[in-house]
Amino acid sequence: MTGAPLLQVRGVSRHFDLRNGLERLYKPAARSLVRAVDNVSFDVWRAETFGIIGESGCGKSTLGRTVLRLQDPDAGSIVFDGTDITRLGRRALLPFRRRMQIVFQDPYASLNPRRTVEDIVGQPLRVHGVGRAAGRQAAVTAMLERVGLPAESLQRYPHQFSGGQRQRIAIARALVLQPELVVCDEAISALDVSVQAQVLQLLRQLQRDLGLTYLFISHNLAVVGHFCDRVAVMYLGQTVEVGATRLLLAEPRHPYTRALLSAVPQMRRADRRPRTLLTGDLPSATRPPAGCKFHTRCPAAMDVCRTTPPALATLGDGRQIACHLHPG
Ligand code: SF4
Repeated sequence: MTGAPLLQVRGVSRHFDLRNGLERLYKPAARSLVRAVDNVSFDVWRAETFGIIGESGCGKSTLGRTVLRLQDPDAGSIVFDGTDITRLGRRALLPFRRRMQIVFQDPYASLNPRRTVEDIVGQPLRVHGVGRAAGRQAAVTAMLERVGLPAESLQRYPHQFSGGQRQRIAIARALVLQPELVVCDEAISALDVSVQAQVLQLLRQLQRDLGLTYLFISHNLAVVGHFCDRVAVMYLGQTVEVGATRLLLAEPRHPYTRALLSAVPQMRRADRRPRTLLTGDLPSATRPPAGCKFHTRCPAAMDVCRTTPPALATLGDGRQIACHLHPG
């Protein structure tokens, strides 16, 4: 990794207040705040695939949207290609929106059923005032071809396509503006396993051809392990371990990463690990445990873990970890 990162995320937090109007009068705010993303920092370099993994509800999708400024952060900073975009207004943000796009999980919900494919994929070009009608149609046709859909798809509607083909349409829509950073938010999770492999292959090919940088959000460690260069493991809104994927897979250090990894089925006997069963449910995000947020489920918890949050320390192999067992 050389040069400056394409994306620098520093201490980003995003909280949600669950109270309605009346409750705001009577309920203390502290009990109603969901700390969906809590003081998260990481860098993503150009042409890299950076994975974010964690259980459902850990804040990874909120983090992805916050990084793109689809939601505003409550604290921290987001620097894209050297420019701090954290507080940019709508107009100033527009040129950056072209350069950062997102592919959502559900290709059934994310595509307007009443619009043709030409309309859907061409919409970002119209919104950003790119080219004239004929040029836009040529750009849409070229992008469809790139994602493996025939030109005849232009006048068809989303319901006339399979799930995998719909996700190709969503990918074409995300790429038609030639972005540099693409957030893939559980982009293959809703697809059949056989189709997942094809879409992953397509994403990889597009990355090679177009020099894309991916922020790849998933709950599936097997997929992240196969697809990502580096990975951040999230638990209750915080990153607990960040590092090269091969390092984290071969030698996970954080007890939560170990537990996630031990649950992934392995074909080869030599790759199988003793299963670490997590006890208890994910704690409430409105009342996270004091100290280390993982201490209520951690098989290695110590007294200090119940009172003192561990800082994110950098180990000799370059990984970052938040755990009192690894003070750095
Ligand atoms: Fe477990 Fe303590 Fe490490 Fe948290 S800090 S993961 S509770 S050992």
